[in-house]
Amino acid sequence: MNRNKREKEFYSLDVGDSTFTVLKRYQNLRPIGSGAQGIVCSAYDHNLERNVAIKKLSRPFQNQTHAKRAYRELVLMKCVNHKNEHVIATISPHTLPPPTLCATRYLVMELMDANLCQVIQMELDHERLSYLLYQMLCGIKHLHSAGIIHRDLKPSNIVVKSDCTLKILDFGLARTAATGLLMTPYVVTRYYRAPEVILGMGYQANVDIWSVGCIMAEMVRHKILFPGRDYIDQWNKVIEQLGTPSQEFLMKLNQSVRTYVENRPRYAGYSFEKLFPDVLFPPDSEHSKLKASQARDLLSKMLVIDASKRISVEEALQHPYINVWYDPAEVEAPPPLISDQKLEEREHTVEEWKELIYKEVLDWEERTKSNVIRGQPTPLGAAVINGSQPSSSSSSSANDVSSMSTDATLASDTDNSLEASAGALGCCR
Ligand code: AMP
Repeated sequence: MNRNKREKEFYSLDVGDSTFTVLKRYQNLRPIGSGAQGIVCSAYDHNLERNVAIKKLSRPFQNQTHAKRAYRELVLMKCVNHKNEHVIATISPHTLPPPTLCATRYLVMELMDANLCQVIQMELDHERLSYLLYQMLCGIKHLHSAGIIHRDLKPSNIVVKSDCTLKILDFGLARTAATGLLMTPYVVTRYYRAPEVILGMGYQANVDIWSVGCIMAEMVRHKILFPGRDYIDQWNKVIEQLGTPSQEFLMKLNQSVRTYVENRPRYAGYSFEKLFPDVLFPPDSEHSKLKASQARDLLSKMLVIDASKRISVEEALQHPYINVWYDPAEVEAPPPLISDQKLEEREHTVEEWKELIYKEVLDWEERTKSNVIRGQPTPLGAAVINGSQPSSSSSSSANDVSSMSTDATLASDTDNSLEASAGALGCCR
């Protein structure tokens, strides 16, 4: 198809201070969120006759770092195929050859109902809490199986549907781990940042477990567990609550960090019963036998300063608070094969990155000619707890995750301004 003809298939509209240029099949665009990479809109796809999410990457080619990040996200999203990982439907609604390639900046995805920031405000029952955690762990395990350590898990990077299904978003900071090697300290958003990262110790896969622990704690407490103002304050918040770590741990620090840590006031910390008293939890579940004591036990195993003593993802999946959902097909899904083994080492000029991305997009278009959206919601029945499922009890109860979508839906249905929507969507850390 010639370029002029293709261009006629598009229209532009302003969303906040950004302009979306998309195929005419996508109508009714409304802003639903924004992140480090750009703005996300919901839209109705007339071809597929359903709502989708369209993410516009903001200036993906402004420099080599952005271009590399866009390329990495693209490659990882194409390879990862797990129901708890975010899956793209279309990489770009329109692909034009370079130099018009800057058009290749839209990702069309399955539309979810809300991000986890909104869920955190809700009083969830044990089934929902444990099922959401189970799915996070499944998604993380799947990434780890390909050597990808996320390192940036946070509530705004996790989206859910009213049927309680969950997906992890944003592979931008994911980094393919060299086998057996510890990674250099980098990234992980402040509040969810693991001690080994704060202290520059290098990290391994269970760095992501710390983040899950922080997220779980926030879901229970309805406020951020370690709200550090900066790097140093973050560490203070950790030790004030969990206590100054043992000498054995301190010996693992490099000399200058150890000196700093040793010179901090010493804290005894609090027991997990004090940090997370029964009153914070929902009533114990008669139905599933899930209890506050189990939830607290899991928290106490995830929020361990010394990574060598922290629970692993596999162990967390076997924990009694989680394993009620265990489905080998979900937990032991075959690892994704990362098509570009040199993903992390690659260094290119912006123009070269454009070419690489363009090739990936063409490859994707070739593979998805059938127009099928991968990653469609799997019926919750796949994860059955003693013959029932989290949302089965009542669709109108305060505990129903479907009620959490209300705010998001209202925000996008009634108010088209990005600011208002972003506000209604809550925190976007
Ligand atoms: P991101 O740029 O991927 O970090 O996304 C920013 C925000 O947009 C998220 O925190 C979500 O609130 C929202 N969002 C992103 N993707 C989707 C999606 N597929 N469905 C619903 N909301 C989304």
